[in-house]
Amino acid sequence: METRFIGDKKKAKIFDIKGPEGSVQIVFRHTKTEKSDKMIVDTVDYGQGPTDSWSEHGQLKELLMKFTGETFEDDRDPWLRSLFYSHQGPQAEFQHKGESRNGQVNRGSDSPTSNLESSELDQHPGGGYTLTINGPTDKLTVTKRRVEHPKFRRILGLNNGPKQCAICGNLISPAFLVAAHIKKRALASDDERKDTSIVVPMCHFGCDALFEEGLIAVHNGSIIRNKAVTVTDYVNSIIQSLIGKEVPKPYWGPLTEKYFSWHLKYHRGES
Ligand SMILES: [Zn+2]
Repeated sequence: METRFIGDKKKAKIFDIKGPEGSVQIVFRHTKTEKSDKMIVDTVDYGQGPTDSWSEHGQLKELLMKFTGETFEDDRDPWLRSLFYSHQGPQAEFQHKGESRNGQVNRGSDSPTSNLESSELDQHPGGGYTLTINGPTDKLTVTKRRVEHPKFRRILGLNNGPKQCAICGNLISPAFLVAAHIKKRALASDDERKDTSIVVPMCHFGCDALFEEGLIAVHNGSIIRNKAVTVTDYVNSIIQSLIGKEVPKPYWGPLTEKYFSWHLKYHRGES
């Protein structure tokens, strides 16, 4: 998605948004009073002239979702706010000077200058470097979110309190658990994507990543080593600690078996 600032209209700003479904021009403003603080969209124009009658053209939220590719799971307000304040007049070019750090870190062959062009770095006298970045370091980016993801988290009860990780079996607090796809979401059909058995909780402490990369898989309900990949001793020790563990009951059964089986074969190059 691309956004382009077109101009100001009294206190409103006009932006062109180019998304997967074409372009839309929105005129919107930030209104702040003692009682409320919100973003108001005045008009939307997707090629048929500006309109403010959202219901005739589909609800405003749906309209924006369609053209921007954003899913607005929660609220469109933060997104509009961020877009509104992304344009603050002509941007001054500046370099952010970080504080110099005392003490050298041995980076081996990965020194900043070996991995980045000199124009991308600014060396400061105390030693160390800062990145040469023109403009603010916070940039408005919009990613396509998975519409079903928050629902999966709720179905798995991941917001309610600690749950067992389907791989290591440890009881883990919600912040460190994801609703992980057993079958890759990108390769799942629309029906499969809606199937609640396609996801199980996995933890951030290695399980999700190792499973995602196919280094481990589930066979007959137990964790096995799968894709042959060269790893460091440390990574190997994590894999070893998982091998032979049994997937806890609710996450292994007839409903999830087909997805685990797909996953195993996929990473062996058999599907
Ligand atoms: Zn785990």
